[in-house]
Amino acid sequence: MAIIVQRPKLKWWEQLYIPALFIGMRVTLGHLVSILSRKTKVTMQYPEEKWDEHLPEHYRGAPALVTDEHDRERCVACQLCEFICPPRAITIKPEEIPGDDKWAKVEKRPRTFDIDMIRCIYCGLCEEVCPEQAIFLRKDYAITGTSRAEMVHDKEKLYQIGGVRVGLVNKWNELK
Ligand code: SF4
Ligand code: SF4
Repeated sequence: MAIIVQRPKLKWWEQLYIPALFIGMRVTLGHLVSILSRKTKVTMQYPEEKWDEHLPEHYRGAPALVTDEHDRERCVACQLCEFICPPRAITIKPEEIPGDDKWAKVEKRPRTFDIDMIRCIYCGLCEEVCPEQAIFLRKDYAITGTSRAEMVHDKEKLYQIGGVRVGLVNKWNELK
Protein backbone atom coordinates (compact mmCIF):
# COMPACT_ATOMS: atom_id res chain seq x y z
CA MET A 1 0.00 0.00 0.00
CA ALA A 2 1.35 3.41 -0.96
CA ILE A 3 1.96 5.88 1.86
CA ILE A 4 1.62 9.56 1.03
CA VAL A 5 4.16 11.67 2.90
CA GLN A 6 2.88 15.19 3.50
CA ARG A 7 5.31 18.04 2.90
CA PRO A 8 5.99 19.85 6.18
CA LYS A 9 4.79 23.43 6.38
CA LEU A 10 7.84 25.59 6.95
CA LYS A 11 7.71 28.76 8.96
CA TRP A 12 8.84 31.96 7.20
CA TRP A 13 12.28 31.92 8.86
CA GLU A 14 12.76 28.26 7.99
CA GLN A 15 12.11 29.07 4.34
CA LEU A 16 15.18 31.33 4.37
CA TYR A 17 17.38 28.20 4.94
CA ILE A 18 19.96 30.43 6.63
CA PRO A 19 19.29 29.03 10.14
CA ALA A 20 19.80 25.48 8.74
CA LEU A 21 23.13 26.59 7.28
CA PHE A 22 24.30 27.80 10.67
CA ILE A 23 23.15 24.59 12.38
CA GLY A 24 25.14 22.55 9.81
CA MET A 25 28.21 24.74 10.26
CA ARG A 26 27.98 24.33 14.05
CA VAL A 27 28.16 20.50 13.63
CA THR A 28 31.11 20.80 11.21
CA LEU A 29 32.99 23.18 13.53
CA GLY A 30 32.34 20.83 16.46
CA HIS A 31 34.06 17.99 14.53
CA LEU A 32 36.92 20.30 13.55
CA VAL A 33 37.52 21.32 17.17
CA SER A 34 37.50 17.71 18.43
CA ILE A 35 39.97 16.65 15.69
CA LEU A 36 42.30 19.61 16.39
CA SER A 37 42.16 18.89 20.12
CA ARG A 38 42.87 15.20 19.28
CA LYS A 39 39.67 13.98 20.91
CA THR A 40 38.67 12.27 17.63
CA LYS A 41 41.00 10.49 15.23
CA VAL A 42 39.53 9.94 11.78
CA THR A 43 42.53 9.03 9.67
CA MET A 44 44.58 5.85 9.80
CA GLN A 45 48.06 6.23 8.31
CA TYR A 46 47.86 3.07 6.18
CA PRO A 47 50.06 1.10 5.52
CA GLU A 48 52.23 2.19 8.47
CA GLU A 49 49.15 1.73 10.68
CA LYS A 50 46.99 -1.32 10.10
CA TRP A 51 43.60 -2.59 11.19
CA ASP A 52 45.05 -5.90 12.41
CA GLU A 53 44.64 -5.23 16.15
CA HIS A 54 41.12 -3.89 15.68
CA LEU A 55 39.73 -6.76 13.62
CA PRO A 56 36.95 -8.77 15.27
CA GLU A 57 37.87 -12.31 16.31
CA HIS A 58 35.83 -13.95 13.54
CA TYR A 59 36.85 -11.56 10.77
CA ARG A 60 36.82 -13.31 7.38
CA GLY A 61 39.80 -12.49 5.17
CA ALA A 62 41.60 -14.32 2.41
CA PRO A 63 41.08 -18.10 2.17
CA ALA A 64 44.06 -20.48 2.42
CA LEU A 65 44.69 -24.23 2.57
CA VAL A 66 45.98 -25.90 5.72
CA THR A 67 47.87 -29.11 6.44
CA ASP A 68 47.43 -31.26 9.54
CA GLU A 69 49.98 -31.50 12.35
CA HIS A 70 51.89 -34.22 10.42
CA ASP A 71 52.30 -31.98 7.36
CA ARG A 72 49.74 -34.02 5.40
CA GLU A 73 47.38 -32.20 3.09
CA ARG A 74 43.84 -32.30 4.37
CA CYS A 75 42.14 -31.60 1.06
CA VAL A 76 40.59 -34.64 -0.66
CA ALA A 77 39.80 -32.77 -3.89
CA CYS A 78 36.05 -33.30 -3.42
CA GLN A 79 35.54 -29.96 -5.22
CA LEU A 80 32.62 -28.93 -2.99
CA CYS A 81 34.30 -25.57 -2.39
CA GLU A 82 34.78 -25.07 -6.13
CA PHE A 83 31.10 -25.86 -6.71
CA ILE A 84 29.78 -23.59 -3.94
CA CYS A 85 32.06 -20.58 -4.61
CA PRO A 86 29.71 -17.80 -5.83
CA PRO A 87 32.22 -15.90 -8.05
CA ARG A 88 33.90 -19.13 -9.24
CA ALA A 89 37.23 -18.11 -7.77
CA ILE A 90 38.38 -21.68 -7.06
CA THR A 91 39.78 -24.03 -9.71
CA ILE A 92 40.80 -27.55 -8.69
CA LYS A 93 42.33 -30.29 -10.81
CA PRO A 94 42.09 -33.54 -8.84
CA GLU A 95 44.31 -36.56 -9.32
CA GLU A 96 43.99 -40.17 -8.22
CA ILE A 97 46.06 -41.46 -5.31
CA PRO A 98 47.99 -44.53 -6.59
CA GLY A 99 46.64 -47.94 -5.51
CA ASP A 100 49.89 -48.90 -3.74
CA ASP A 101 49.77 -45.78 -1.54
CA LYS A 102 49.00 -46.35 2.16
CA TRP A 103 46.12 -43.90 1.87
CA ALA A 104 44.74 -45.15 -1.45
CA LYS A 105 41.30 -45.36 0.18
CA VAL A 106 41.17 -41.56 0.19
CA GLU A 107 41.04 -41.87 -3.63
CA LYS A 108 41.76 -38.26 -4.61
CA ARG A 109 44.03 -35.35 -3.87
CA PRO A 110 44.36 -31.99 -5.58
CA ARG A 111 46.99 -31.89 -8.33
CA THR A 112 46.42 -28.16 -8.67
CA PHE A 113 44.35 -25.85 -6.46
CA ASP A 114 44.06 -22.19 -7.46
CA ILE A 115 42.10 -19.33 -5.89
CA ASP A 116 41.75 -16.15 -7.91
CA MET A 117 41.96 -13.48 -5.26
CA ILE A 118 40.61 -10.84 -7.64
CA ARG A 119 37.36 -12.79 -7.79
CA CYS A 120 37.18 -13.92 -4.15
CA ILE A 121 34.60 -12.01 -2.08
CA TYR A 122 35.66 -13.49 1.29
CA CYS A 123 32.22 -15.01 1.79
CA GLY A 124 33.47 -18.04 3.71
CA LEU A 125 31.26 -20.60 1.93
CA CYS A 126 34.31 -22.69 0.97
CA GLU A 127 35.27 -22.98 4.64
CA GLU A 128 31.72 -23.88 5.67
CA VAL A 129 31.25 -26.57 3.06
CA CYS A 130 34.64 -28.31 3.39
CA PRO A 131 34.24 -31.78 4.96
CA GLU A 132 37.94 -32.04 5.90
CA GLN A 133 38.51 -28.60 7.45
CA ALA A 134 41.11 -28.06 4.74
CA ILE A 135 40.34 -24.47 3.80
CA PHE A 136 40.08 -21.54 6.19
CA LEU A 137 39.58 -17.83 5.90
CA ARG A 138 42.44 -15.99 7.54
CA LYS A 139 42.53 -12.42 8.77
CA ASP A 140 44.58 -11.20 5.79
CA TYR A 141 42.74 -8.45 3.96
CA ALA A 142 45.60 -6.72 2.11
CA ILE A 143 46.10 -9.10 -0.80
CA THR A 144 48.02 -7.26 -3.48
CA GLY A 145 49.90 -8.04 -6.68
CA THR A 146 51.31 -6.30 -9.71
CA SER A 147 49.56 -8.50 -12.28
CA ARG A 148 46.41 -10.62 -12.60
CA ALA A 149 48.53 -13.76 -12.69
CA GLU A 150 50.15 -12.82 -9.37
CA MET A 151 46.71 -12.55 -7.79
CA VAL A 152 45.96 -16.20 -8.49
CA HIS A 153 47.20 -18.11 -5.45
CA ASP A 154 48.33 -21.61 -6.36
CA LYS A 155 48.44 -24.63 -4.06
CA GLU A 156 51.96 -23.94 -2.84
CA LYS A 157 51.16 -20.36 -1.91
CA LEU A 158 47.84 -21.33 -0.30
CA TYR A 159 49.62 -23.85 1.98
CA GLN A 160 52.37 -21.34 2.72
CA ILE A 161 49.78 -18.77 3.84
CA GLY A 162 47.51 -21.26 5.60
CA GLY A 163 50.00 -23.16 7.72
CA VAL A 164 48.91 -25.96 10.07
CA ARG A 165 45.58 -26.71 11.73
CA VAL A 166 45.26 -29.36 14.40
CA GLY A 167 42.00 -31.28 14.71
CA LEU A 168 39.70 -33.87 13.20
CA VAL A 169 40.47 -34.95 9.65
CA ASN A 170 38.09 -37.63 8.41
CA LYS A 171 40.31 -39.07 5.73
CA TRP A 172 43.09 -40.13 8.14
CA ASN A 173 40.59 -42.20 10.13
CA GLU A 174 41.42 -45.81 9.22
CA LEU A 175 37.96 -46.97 10.31
CA LYS A 176 36.21 -44.80 7.71
S1 SF4 B 1 35.66 -17.11 0.38
FE1 SF4 B 1 33.85 -17.30 -0.96
S2 SF4 B 1 34.47 -16.28 -2.84
FE2 SF4 B 1 36.37 -16.68 -1.73
S3 SF4 B 1 37.08 -18.66 -2.49
FE3 SF4 B 1 35.81 -19.10 -0.68
S4 SF4 B 1 33.72 -19.49 -1.50
FE4 SF4 B 1 34.93 -18.45 -3.12
S1 SF4 C 1 39.27 -27.71 0.29
FE1 SF4 C 1 37.73 -29.01 1.26
S2 SF4 C 1 35.86 -28.68 0.04
FE2 SF4 C 1 37.59 -27.94 -1.20
S3 SF4 C 1 38.15 -29.70 -2.48
FE3 SF4 C 1 39.46 -29.75 -0.64
S4 SF4 C 1 38.34 -31.11 0.79
FE4 SF4 C 1 36.87 -30.49 -0.80
